Amino acid sequence: MALFKTPEQILQAGQDAVLRGNFPQARTYYENAALKFSKQGNTALCALAGSYAAIVSIAQSPSNASLLYGAAQSVRSLGNATLKLGLRETPASELATEIVMLATEADIQGRTANTPAEHAEKARRLRELATKFRTEAADRILVLPELFFKQSISGESKALPLSAYAEESLGESLVMENPKAAAEHYQTARLLWMQAGRQDFGDMAASRVRAYGSAAKCWFCGREISGEGIHFLRMPSELTELIMKSSKGSALPSFDPGLSQIYACRGCYSAVYRMADSRAVTRMQELEARVNLQLNSIRESIAETQRMIARMRP
Ligand SMILES: [Zn+2]
Repeated sequence: MALFKTPEQILQAGQDAVLRGNFPQARTYYENAALKFSKQGNTALCALAGSYAAIVSIAQSPSNASLLYGAAQSVRSLGNATLKLGLRETPASELATEIVMLATEADIQGRTANTPAEHAEKARRLRELATKFRTEAADRILVLPELFFKQSISGESKALPLSAYAEESLGESLVMENPKAAAEHYQTARLLWMQAGRQDFGDMAASRVRAYGSAAKCWFCGREISGEGIHFLRMPSELTELIMKSSKGSALPSFDPGLSQIYACRGCYSAVYRMADSRAVTRMQELEARVNLQLNSIRESIAETQRMIARMRP
């Protein structure tokens, strides 16, 4: 550090460290340059060096929304300046917009949705963000993914997976009310994942399409219900040929013959499960009482033996 005299030289050392991909070192140079510019009273270059420091600090945790928002704010304050990151030069306003979009993405994906309303809200935000990437960046290569991960991602290619996630969230928001509609949204998500070249995510969406779209007849109560894993579940059972034959003629299956499993609506399933659970607890308490009785009698005979030994001592 002592080698560099002027803050301009330190700033340049930061740029060189970025080119080498050494972001922690770049950050130290930028912060140092900002400090020296500030001592000189050069507020414009102080702000520029500070913004560079904020941007490279994202490298340590690229999906940290508050780091991203902080950097965006700092870059936005530069007004009409141009920033040079690696080999790419970008106007401050354009870069600030990109970082805000990435921050919003990190914020949305960092929250877990549990209720249908939360899933619906997540879907709405994801859709809005996908549109924003399409209109603000379109076919422009995004600066940060290129800088940190050497990935060439355009706004359009960023929008695709976000739209797929939005469809999946919509599916989750609907599955309690209408599993068939949820399956349709997962089907759209599957197509978007394929378009985005993500076969793995496409396959996962396809398995939801199958589960949510499938319907069965409850073995116990005969209710016809769709949405496997949500509204009906599988239970291991023992099925004979005769039992299976007796169910023929029904439009919906009430069992899976290959796996010897029956289908139960969630109502029947949880009633059986809870009854079995409470029986197990009662049985355990009975066993515990018996074991305690035996333990007491063992304790008594040990005490008796000890008294006998004491009496035998001279
Ligand atoms: Zn049932």
